[in-house]
Amino acid sequence: MSRSMIRIKGTLLLSDHKNSIARAARIIRRGGLVAFPTETVYGLGASATDTEAVKKIFTAKGRPPDNPLIVHLSDQKQLRSVAREIPDTAYLLIEKYWPGPLSLVLQRSENISEVVSAGLPTVAVRMPDHRVALNLIRLSRVPIAAPSANWSGRPSPTDFRHVLEDLSGRIDAVIKSNVCAIGVESTVLDLTGSEPVILRPGGLSRERLEETLGCHIRLAGSGANIEQPSSPGMRYRHYSPLAPLILVTGAINRRRRLLNSLACHYNRKGFVVGMLNFTKQPNFSPEIEAGLLAAKLFQTLRQLDARKVDLILAEETETAGLGLAVMNRLRKAAARTIKV
Ligand code: AMP
Ligand code: MG
Repeated sequence: MSRSMIRIKGTLLLSDHKNSIARAARIIRRGGLVAFPTETVYGLGASATDTEAVKKIFTAKGRPPDNPLIVHLSDQKQLRSVAREIPDTAYLLIEKYWPGPLSLVLQRSENISEVVSAGLPTVAVRMPDHRVALNLIRLSRVPIAAPSANWSGRPSPTDFRHVLEDLSGRIDAVIKSNVCAIGVESTVLDLTGSEPVILRPGGLSRERLEETLGCHIRLAGSGANIEQPSSPGMRYRHYSPLAPLILVTGAINRRRRLLNSLACHYNRKGFVVGMLNFTKQPNFSPEIEAGLLAAKLFQTLRQLDARKVDLILAEETETAGLGLAVMNRLRKAAARTIKV
């Protein structure tokens, strides 16, 4: 072992150089857990063919066992060992968007543990667009099952430090690398029904998918997704900062007025109020604006926690481009949503 190896509460901090990635791949092959960067957020990976290793992901994250994981590939050839009855639409999308932030839900092959899919007959698959992630999968020589590398319910990590904040001492290693550029998780598209359905908006916009497939694509359960399958009627918070987040939606003038008065009210009561400000940049299209917001959303929520704010006020944003994903995350992070 190199002398420069650093452990934080037992979790190995690895560089993103070739030898370190090879070391991380050996950990995966031996049934361990490695957090690795992707272009969306950090993933917490285990061999998708090793049931015991996959179970450790749920334990390390405190993740409910009914929330399925995404299988990550480095080569299209792996797809047939992961999924079966793959429709032509999948190949069309793969040609255009892989590697990239698009997870496809397909029929699961028997090689993949049902624990990966939380018992579902389907499996979500994607190929990440990140050198380190692709090398890790390639060197592991197995598909890697990975959800986001955060403690369940917390904002997803876009930096190795976020991973350590939540999971140091609970996982074998984390690869230190450049930040995750997209900043929100992949778009999850279900291809197992009669028409494609977006189960979760994410890093690839609905508009681009619609343009490629030449049809309108439905968004499942508007605002909800399969992350809340077993608790109908129960508020299930996700992506949440420590401080309660109040989301204000409605016409721009009215919501700005309410945000101002809420900020004044809580300031007077002695609360430290954090604002998640989506002030528009002149000359930026809504799509570009949304991409910038997505890139810093989770990071900003974690920064507000670090400042120990008592309350976070957030404002509705447009749903063009990645704005749909940003609003989905904000709604799930919110302790309360006020429509004016
Ligand atoms: P995470 O990477 O932490 O965002 O978690 C993966 C997410 O992918 C899950 O919460 C689901 O929303 C989605 N997902 C994974 N597998 C499936 C599947 N078989 N069917 C539907 N959605 C899935
Ligand atoms: Mg997650």
